[in-house]
Amino acid sequence: MKHRTQVGIVGAGPAGLLLSHLLHKQGIESVVLECRTREQIEGTIRAGVLEQGTVDLLTRVGLGERLAREGFAHDGILLRFHGRTRRVDFPSQTGGKRVTVYPQHEVLRDLVKARLADGADLRFGVNAVSLRGVDGERPAIRYRHDGEDCEVSCDFVAGCDGTHGVCRASIPSGIATPLERTYPFAWFGVLCEAPPSSPELIYCLHERGFALVSTRSPTVQRMYLQVDPEERACDWSDDRIWSEFRTRLATDDGWAPKEGPIFHKVVVGMRSFVLEPMQHGRLFLAGDSAHVVPPTGAKGLNLAASDAYYLGGALAAFYRGGGSSALERYSERALARVWKAQRFSMWMTSMLHRFPGGDRFQYRAQVAELDYVTSSKAAATALAENYVGLPMN
Ligand SMILES: Cc1cc2nc3c(=O)[nH]c(=O)nc-3n(C[C@H](O)[C@H](O)[C@H](O)COP(=O)(O)OP(=O)(O)OC[C@H]3O[C@@H](n4cnc5c(N)ncnc54)[C@H](O)[C@@H]3O)c2cc1C
Repeated sequence: MKHRTQVGIVGAGPAGLLLSHLLHKQGIESVVLECRTREQIEGTIRAGVLEQGTVDLLTRVGLGERLAREGFAHDGILLRFHGRTRRVDFPSQTGGKRVTVYPQHEVLRDLVKARLADGADLRFGVNAVSLRGVDGERPAIRYRHDGEDCEVSCDFVAGCDGTHGVCRASIPSGIATPLERTYPFAWFGVLCEAPPSSPELIYCLHERGFALVSTRSPTVQRMYLQVDPEERACDWSDDRIWSEFRTRLATDDGWAPKEGPIFHKVVVGMRSFVLEPMQHGRLFLAGDSAHVVPPTGAKGLNLAASDAYYLGGALAAFYRGGGSSALERYSERALARVWKAQRFSMWMTSMLHRFPGGDRFQYRAQVAELDYVTSSKAAATALAENYVGLPMN
């Protein structure tokens, strides 16, 4: 089966679906090819913190209604270290900006619903995806769907297929440079049924390692512990998990997390990765297919949204007759923001994690940095403006 569209999009994550939606708003047709089912993408709990700019973008393009109703505005974060807790306020440091906790799968539900209501061509459950001719004028994407071999020819291909997709691998070696940093620790994440332990996220440095208290809804909480990358989730009983959280999160005034049944455990590796440039010929990468950030800065989903915004704008300029200069500058423009988010995520990670072999000197210096960040207006402002998100310009 052969068909044609203007922009062929691989991957129905935040980058691919938002790009498809933004293109539709500009009258540009796209086809989205996704290897998982709709139920799978709408049911996988991942990120949850939306920057102010992401919220504003979603709202501007008609996706803000449920987000405004069901999302939780957070005006700050809590930094816990050495048994004490200090708060960094966002609105007062950033001219009124904040973040919104609204899970990624809810963003995806809103996007799928909107795309289908607009009559979009979303194909779930495809496999054997491969790209053809991205360095020529007429690229194509081959795939199998419902047992049939298919090919969609297009003007451009958007590679929005995440870290393990096929699009990045389709760029011949030597054309783009992968830059990477891996960290000597991982995050052990749990999802539990419990009320929120705290009205705001708690980022905690403890001598035994980092801990994060986050939330996904009034009844589902997301919590993380720094662990060794070789750690296996199955070796952690619920009792051991709660005991470790109580130890790391303990305060001088007896604070303890609200406990409940744990229904999901996962060990997530930590790495920083960027591919430069994010484009080759008529293939443009967006989101995790081009870059990965350690989750400490809550930036992955937000970078997927800003890439979609930049790429959507450049494609719209091309179809309006503005030529290809905006498309040629896409990578440079997106990477300027990506690198600032990489820097921030790396800094938060270094400040809040224990490094192997890290001695008491290192720990005392980290405590001093947290003390400084939460007592100096200039330092707190720098954290706040990066956390709520730098402008998409
Ligand atoms: C456990 C976990 C927790 C996280 N927590 C946070 C957080 O708190 N804050 C934050 O900002 N970020 C977080 N992230 C990162 C964030 O979820 C990602 O950065 C974000 O999903 C990137 O969106 P994307 O659209 O680029 O890629 P993805 O969401 O990965 O979407 C890519 C899509 O492409 C599909 N695909 C892959 N290969 C193919 C193929 N060959 N053919 C067709 N389709 C394909 C995939 O099935 C997927 O649906 C977390 C990630 C994980 C795993």
